[in-house]
Amino acid sequence: MTSSSLLSEFDLPAFELHNAKGSGNVVLICDHASHRVPIQLGTLGLTIDQLTEHIGWDPGAAEVALQLSALLDAPLLMSGYSRLVIDCNRPLQNAESIAVESAGIAVPGNLTLTGEDRARRIESLFKPYHHAIEELLDGRIDRPTVVLSIHSFSPSLNGQSRPWHIGISARYNIRLAQLMIAELSRNTSLKIGDNQPYAIEDEFDYSLPAHAESRGLPAVMIEIRQDGLSTATDISGWASRLAASYQQIESEVF
Ligand SMILES: [Zn+2]
Repeated sequence: MTSSSLLSEFDLPAFELHNAKGSGNVVLICDHASHRVPIQLGTLGLTIDQLTEHIGWDPGAAEVALQLSALLDAPLLMSGYSRLVIDCNRPLQNAESIAVESAGIAVPGNLTLTGEDRARRIESLFKPYHHAIEELLDGRIDRPTVVLSIHSFSPSLNGQSRPWHIGISARYNIRLAQLMIAELSRNTSLKIGDNQPYAIEDEFDYSLPAHAESRGLPAVMIEIRQDGLSTATDISGWASRLAASYQQIESEVF
């Protein structure tokens, strides 16, 4: 089994916790916030351009999440490393947990991993992030809590363009999603995906099933199309629209 951490004293921590004592009812999580790679893994054999493309992270998602954290006075947990090192929203048994290729690009640094290499990524990155979410939620069992999981998605995938500006996904407890979709739909120029571009599935999703669904907490996965997050103005526009929409419907959630 694992003998030493993947993270050295020169690496940043596995996750970032912001606004831990936030007084709002929302907990924010951002699984694909960073394209960082631990120093000892170099660039996983990719170019910097490839790493900073959408295959390495969700561009814009961390900024939206940070602004939402301030606007809703909500604690926010963000993963500190690229999903190509280990995907914090993939069940560990999924083949894309540590992807050998993404969107047609091979990830050389993931091609010949030993069991120990895998274990070190799990122990050093995946588990600390998810333990932190667990601890945060454990500390709130006596108060109403909603989990918002913030992602961004690429405008096209496998040659298919994706028409939604934003997608709201939920599975068992769908009232929050229905309320948010109805509220966002008041802006008739927005094309909103209902469980699009991704529905929540046990095979592909870890964070909301493991932390929110298991506790019966209202939760949604929010996916914002990346071309709508390309400037600071776009990003703060989405953050304030989402915060205002949530605040509008919050009293109906519980
Ligand atoms: Zn994502």
